[in-house]
Amino acid sequence: MIEFYKIDKLLEDYDFLDIMVVDIHGKMKHVTLPKSYVSEKTFKEGIGFDASNFGFAKVTDSDMVAIPDLLKMYLEIIEDRKIIHVLSDVINPLTGEFFNQYPRSITKETLKYIKKSNVADDAKMLVELEFHVFEKVSYKTAFTESYYFVENAEGLGEGHDYPRANASSYHLNEPYDIHFELRNNIVKVLENAGIPVKYHHHEVGIAQHEIELNFMSLVDAADNVTLAKYLIRRVASEYGLYVTFMPKPIFNMPGNGMHVHQYLEKEGKSLFVGNEIYNLSKLALNYTAGILKHSLSGALLAWSNPSTNSYKRLVPGFEAPISASFSKGSRSAAIRIPGYLSKADTRIEFRTGDATANVYFFLSAMILAGLSGIENNYDPIEMGFHSKGENNKEFPLNLKDVIIGLKEDNKYLKTFPESLINKWVDTKLKEANIIYSIPVPKEFELYFEL
Ligand code: GLU
Ligand code: MG
Ligand code: MG
Repeated sequence: MIEFYKIDKLLEDYDFLDIMVVDIHGKMKHVTLPKSYVSEKTFKEGIGFDASNFGFAKVTDSDMVAIPDLLKMYLEIIEDRKIIHVLSDVINPLTGEFFNQYPRSITKETLKYIKKSNVADDAKMLVELEFHVFEKVSYKTAFTESYYFVENAEGLGEGHDYPRANASSYHLNEPYDIHFELRNNIVKVLENAGIPVKYHHHEVGIAQHEIELNFMSLVDAADNVTLAKYLIRRVASEYGLYVTFMPKPIFNMPGNGMHVHQYLEKEGKSLFVGNEIYNLSKLALNYTAGILKHSLSGALLAWSNPSTNSYKRLVPGFEAPISASFSKGSRSAAIRIPGYLSKADTRIEFRTGDATANVYFFLSAMILAGLSGIENNYDPIEMGFHSKGENNKEFPLNLKDVIIGLKEDNKYLKTFPESLINKWVDTKLKEANIIYSIPVPKEFELYFEL
């Protein structure tokens, strides 16, 4: 098992200092310094790095400076080596200021904005991670009869006499759940890294799993989701397995969402508990309406569901939402009010997003959408968002349309600089244009002979 522990202060004795920065897609990039190169200066002034591989190239036409966040240090032990990993912020050397497009900067600014708004002093987030585990990754079978994008999914590979997991594998038990021990090990590693976990289980799909983290303060939630995705992959790779958080790796099978349970908090108390419908407060209803309104325009989906593959998940029949709705219990509503909670724990679950999102941008944009609902006193019932299973307006359901939505509807993104919004629009339109212009094998089946 990987030995990876959260630490509160720097050790005297270590071999490497590994500086981790978050790129535009929310993935961690790292550079590793031998201890002999590290000095006081490294921690005070940071370390310059080549920013061209981090998605923000040409911002300054220069390199950037990573500055370690001493509250986010981890010790990893590999054989007799000690590695200190440290999550870092980024300074733009041209201005000497924190780089205002950097994902952690956006989330930290959003937390400040929440406080400044006087509405709340934190937004508590519980993030659910769904993912597939594969034995072998191959593109060659992608467009065969059943369009399996990946070969040898658990139970589907050659050599299994009968499926070890099948399509109704929700909460599957051992011995059919062949990755029970893998998930136990992952959760141990996450806990050692200071990431609180609620539970883990097999998900509905073949080879599909879920780990739910527990509630965390906003910035910790974004940091820990980023770290958890990295650690989940690290542990699986020790078993020779591949993990993907892709929203829809396998056609016609359940996809991977990244649901977020949430509430605003003031002086330690939830502001979402009240006497309106489903035990929500009026403020929670306004917040819900803000999220749904900016989802419907596409402007929030551009951050919560920012890949072409995101929209292959948002199709009917797989417990993934496709329209702007809220409801108690329903798993096809974009916002669900969980039915299993006592009144004091009332909260909302935004079920639309997926883990191709940069979680820093996603959580920040979602909260700002909610806050705009509070500022404007939006009523989700009047706006037609209450789901009775019908008549809710459908989201724009492809990447190009949501990006166009973002271009038109971005005033609510109070902590996102215009430069970041423009950068995101360019990056994502390029992705959309590539995918929509590539002939895919299914087209040969449909059109070759026409
Ligand atoms: N996998 C489903 C999704 O794509 C959700 C299943 C669940 O409710 O946990 O969002
Ligand atoms: Mg789930
Ligand atoms: Mg959920």
